[in-house]
Parts: sequence; C-alpha cells; structure tokens
Amino acid sequence: MLNIVLFGPPGAGKGTQAEKLISKYNLVHLSTGDIFRANIKGATDLGTLAKSYIDAGNLVPDEVTIKMLEAEVDKNPNAEGFIFDGFPRTTPQAEALEKFLKGKGTTISVMLALDVSEQELIKRLLLRGKASGRADDANEEVIANRIKVYNEQTAVVADFYSVQNKFQKIDGIGSIDEIFERLSGAIDNYKVSI
Ligand code: ADP
Repeated sequence: MLNIVLFGPPGAGKGTQAEKLISKYNLVHLSTGDIFRANIKGATDLGTLAKSYIDAGNLVPDEVTIKMLEAEVDKNPNAEGFIFDGFPRTTPQAEALEKFLKGKGTTISVMLALDVSEQELIKRLLLRGKASGRADDANEEVIANRIKVYNEQTAVVADFYSVQNKFQKIDGIGSIDEIFERLSGAIDNYKVSI
C-alpha cells in the first residue's frame, strides 16, 4: 500500500494537492476537516461536538478524531492506499495511526510536508474564506489561533516521521501544477526506492 501523510499548516494547499494526487496514484483521500464539515452539515452528534472546537480554531479532541479516522479507513477495505490530509495533527494521533495501520499489516510510507511562509498562509486563508464560506477562514483571530495551534501541537508530528526517515519537505510556493510536480516527483522516488 502507498499511505501518504500530506502535512503542513492551515492553508498550505493540502486539500487541493490531495485531490490531484488521489487520481494520479489511485488513492483514497481522507481529510479529517472535510469529514468534520460533512458531519456539521448533516447535524450528526459528531458534528455538533466538533463545531465548537472548529469555529474557535482549536483541535477536536484526539479520542473523537482517532475513532472517526479509523472508521473511515475501515470503510475502504479495498483501497490501494490513502492520503491522510489533516491527520495526524498531534503526536498521540500519529501513535494511534501507527498502531492501527500495523494491525492491518501496513504503515505510513512517507510524510510530505508542504512548506509555506506564515504571511502567505494568512493571505491564502483570508482569500479562501471569501469563496468557501468557511467560518474558520473568514476571521483573522481564528486563523491566528489555528496557526498557533499548528505551531504548538502539530508541527512536532514531523519529528515522529523524521526519526523513521519518512519525512520529506516540499516547497509549497508556486503554481498548483508546479507543487503537484514536486509532490509527484517525491512519490515516484519513494516508489523506486522500495
Ligand atoms: P485547515 O488545515 O485548512 O485548517 P482542515 O479542514 O484540515 O483545515 O481542518 C479544519 C478544522 O477541523 C481544524 O481547525 C480542527 O478544528 C479540525 N480538525 C481537522 N483535523 C483534525 C485533527 N486531526 N485533529 C483535531 N482536529 C482536527
């Protein structure tokens, strides 16, 4: 299996690139943010619980997020691989994912981390807020909190994969196609190396 963690701060372009990568490599895209938003739209219990955290730009508790992610993986028993987008966002999530995948006889192949400056992130998120109607993109304070949460709780997840030699940084500045080429190049190199 080819299991990729697409990593990077809010607004780095993970969702956009994930959509392109899944069709090129025939993978299943699991975006925890998208799954939460679908639950909010459907007014499920999970959506109600997640909404207050998301609107404030905080993380949804690990226990809830991990359970949800594992259920989504289990919904795709025939997948050739997954792109995890927005997960893991904490070290306990990374540990849980490792254990869960190990139980299925697989593992994370590589973490690809999109590198984008903070100034560019804020610009992109505010722009997306106008178009997407996402409340957490429209408010500068919430954006600042998401970046703070990323720096304090999520950035360390890179170390988890780095010590396993699975971490790779990708320049996230440029056109969508340029960044896609860089990501595809990294995946193709990985595939040649195994
Ligand atoms: P972005 O990366 O652009 O901030 P996402 O769509 O990935 O947006 O996530 C939106 C929100 O959903 C996050 O700010 C957080 O509240 C919640 N969320 C998404 N993934 C996770 C996760 N793995 N753990 C906890 N909360 C999450």
